[in-house]
Amino acid sequence: MLYDVLVIGGGAAGMMAATKAARAGCSVVLLERNPFCGKKINITGKGRCNLTNTRTWDEFATHVHPSANFLRSAFYSFSNKDVVSFFEEAGLKTVVTQGGRIFPESMRAADVSQTLVKCMEEAGVEILCGREVLSVCKEGEVFRCNYIESESKMMASGSIMAQAVIVTTGGLSYPGTGSTGRGYDIAESFDIQLEPLFPSLTALMPWQYDPALKGIALENVGLTLVVDRTSVQIETGDLSFTDNGIEGSIGFRVSRRAVKALIAGQKVELELDLKPALSLEQLAARIKREMESMQIDAGRMGPVLMRQLLARLMPKALIAPFITANPGLTVNNLPSALKVWRFKIHSYTGYERAVVTAGGVSQKEVVAKTLCARNVPGLYFAGEVLDLDGDTGGYNLQIAFSTGSLAGESAAQKILKQRVSSE
Ligand SMILES: Cc1cc2nc3c(=O)[nH]c(=O)nc-3n(C[C@H](O)[C@H](O)[C@H](O)COP(=O)(O)OP(=O)(O)OC[C@H]3O[C@@H](n4cnc5c(N)ncnc54)[C@H](O)[C@@H]3O)c2cc1C
Repeated sequence: MLYDVLVIGGGAAGMMAATKAARAGCSVVLLERNPFCGKKINITGKGRCNLTNTRTWDEFATHVHPSANFLRSAFYSFSNKDVVSFFEEAGLKTVVTQGGRIFPESMRAADVSQTLVKCMEEAGVEILCGREVLSVCKEGEVFRCNYIESESKMMASGSIMAQAVIVTTGGLSYPGTGSTGRGYDIAESFDIQLEPLFPSLTALMPWQYDPALKGIALENVGLTLVVDRTSVQIETGDLSFTDNGIEGSIGFRVSRRAVKALIAGQKVELELDLKPALSLEQLAARIKREMESMQIDAGRMGPVLMRQLLARLMPKALIAPFITANPGLTVNNLPSALKVWRFKIHSYTGYERAVVTAGGVSQKEVVAKTLCARNVPGLYFAGEVLDLDGDTGGYNLQIAFSTGSLAGESAAQKILKQRVSSE
């Protein structure tokens, strides 16, 4: 059988693309290597799935890398409001939480993937799970997709023909969810250029990382990324110290540039500001007030009193590592130590635990208005396989939904046009 559209990968982008193409009237088949679709969706947002957010395009665009311009058409054709309507119409209620983040009301990520599967089924998509696509080639005007049955011990294989192919295989992050990077090989087999790949939204490991820091989470702190002694990014928000180093929302936000700089061999440092709302002078005045209320003067300040003072300025668990990091701590240098706690970074967590893969199918190779490869009519790319990634906060799934929707609709439009002209 010759399908109109074949979608490779049943993640957020692929399920949206398949639904949109089928709703437009195309025969659609989706191949997914896992035994079920949406394995990565199920672990998003700590199992709750932050599926999008309430940002306007102008705000949204500042959180998209490397260039949001490429996403503009896709976002306007299927915006964050459209994503909410799509799920609500399919029976999945959503809620807006702190910071404009949008989740399913049930707070169950699996409800999001199940809703997408239901939408595909209702639209008539043929869903073939346990099929891993190995290669795609063009035979005349149609594509042949060669796959193996990934779950079968017999290594059974087969091929499917389609007029259009949408590659939505994701990136390389969290390979256990099915992301193996096959989409990049498919792109390269058509001479489509990739931008260098690297993990993003990932933990940064300092030199001589103090194990006492592990498990500490800080709210409303500042973080400055310094590359080769120049401050390149300043963020304020939440940060956590884990087994893997520095992460949390602001740790992740600076990780993209930090990882790129580390790969380029540059010197990377992070400066943690424990009191971002106060200037040095205001902080010195605050410390003076604290000391007055404790009835101590600077001359009497020994280690015990210093610990008591620090207990008024930071979470208890942070006191010991803070003192270790600042061996010559005095009342005089305390404000600057609180404003700048320097961590020299030596490495980062790789794809095994990075939230997204940066880089991918080059924006130059794909027409932004359709997501069709410039030099391969009928071949489309959507989702994380593209050189497009966002910060934490629902940006990445919105990118996947917007690009999946646009690719599905564009592929359908092209095929339906051809059908009309040949009748
Ligand atoms: C732990 C974690 C938490 C996250 N939380 C959030 C969040 O809350 N909000 C947010 O916006 N983003 C979040 N993200 C990022 C977001 O999940 C991804 O950016 C998004 O899922 C990408 O969608 P995709 O469809 O492009 O790729 P994927 O979701 O990775 O889907 C690709 C699919 O293709 C399949 N596939 C791959 N190769 C083949 C092949 N050769 N043949 C057949 N099938 C194949 C895979 O098995 C997979 O199912 C999170 C990511 C992680 C890892």
